[in-house]
Amino acid sequence: MSEDQAYAWFKLARWASTGGEPTCPQCGCIGAYERGNRRFRCKEKVCEVEFSVTSGTVLASRKLSFRTLLMAIALSVLSVKGKAACQLKRELAVDYKTAFVLPHKMRESIAVLRRDLKLDGIVEMDGMYLGGHLRQKNRKENRVDGRLAENRTGKREAVLAMRERGQGGRTLSAAVPEERADVAWHLTKNHVERGAGLRADQHPSYDELCGLNEIVRNNHARAYVEAADASTNQAESHFSRLRRAENTSTGTPPTWRGARTGGAPRSMSRRNRCWRRHSTIRSAATWPDTGSGTASGAPL
Ligand SMILES: [Zn+2]
Repeated sequence: MSEDQAYAWFKLARWASTGGEPTCPQCGCIGAYERGNRRFRCKEKVCEVEFSVTSGTVLASRKLSFRTLLMAIALSVLSVKGKAACQLKRELAVDYKTAFVLPHKMRESIAVLRRDLKLDGIVEMDGMYLGGHLRQKNRKENRVDGRLAENRTGKREAVLAMRERGQGGRTLSAAVPEERADVAWHLTKNHVERGAGLRADQHPSYDELCGLNEIVRNNHARAYVEAADASTNQAESHFSRLRRAENTSTGTPPTWRGARTGGAPRSMSRRNRCWRRHSTIRSAATWPDTGSGTASGAPL
C-alpha cells in the first residue's frame, strides 16, 4: 500500500459520513480548501480554521507516515494476544518509545469511543482477577499461602466484562479494583439498555442488578450451565483470551489495563469480521471512587 492510499484510508475513517470529504473539526462545515501538504482550511468565513486529517485526534502532530500508522493499527488488531511494544518496534522500525506510546493512543481512542456504549439484547456479565503473581521461595518451608490477604502483592486487579450474546456481539470490559456490587451497578446502569436481559453467576456483586434489568443467575456450584439460557460462556470466552494476553501486557500501567483489555476482544472479533463493534472502557474515567482523570483525545 502506498502512502497516498494509506492517507485516503485515514480520510475515509475520519470523515466516514461524508465519504472522505473534509469536515471542519471546529464548526462542522463540510468541504474545505486544500492548502497543500495535506492540510485544509475551513470554507466558512467566520471560521477559516486550518486542520488536517488527524487534527483533534490522538494522532495529531504525528511524525510517522500514514502508511506506518496504518501498519501499526493492522498489526495490533491482528495480534490475538496483543502486541508487545518491543515487537512492534522491530516490525515498524521505530524507536521503542514510539512503539510504546502508539498502541496506548489507540487504546485511548477506543476508550473514548466506548464511553457512551449501550449494550442490548442478552448481556452476559462476569468478573475475573489477573496480575499480582506471587513468586514463591525456593524451599518449601519458606513458601507462603498466596490466597491469604496478608501475603498478597497488592497488584492483583479485577476485570469485569459484559458481552452481548450472539455473533458480532459487542464486549465492554473494565479494569476495576475488585468485583464489587457498586461497580457492577455502575457499569450496568451506564452501559446496558434497560430492556436488555442480564446473565450472571451467583457472585453477590450481581444481587442488586435485578433492580435495573431482568437477570438470570447461573449457579456454578450446582452446574457449569444450570439452565439452557443461563450461561455466561461468552463472557468467559473473553476472559480466556485475556489470560492468553496477560504475559504480553506485563508492562501496562494499572490505569491502562481497562483499555488494554479491549485489545483482546478487538483481535478476537477481527476474526469474526466485526471488530469495529467491540469495546472497552478505561476504569479511571468511569466511576468516581476508583481514581481521577478522564481519557483525553478524540477518536481516530
Ligand atoms: Zn470551520
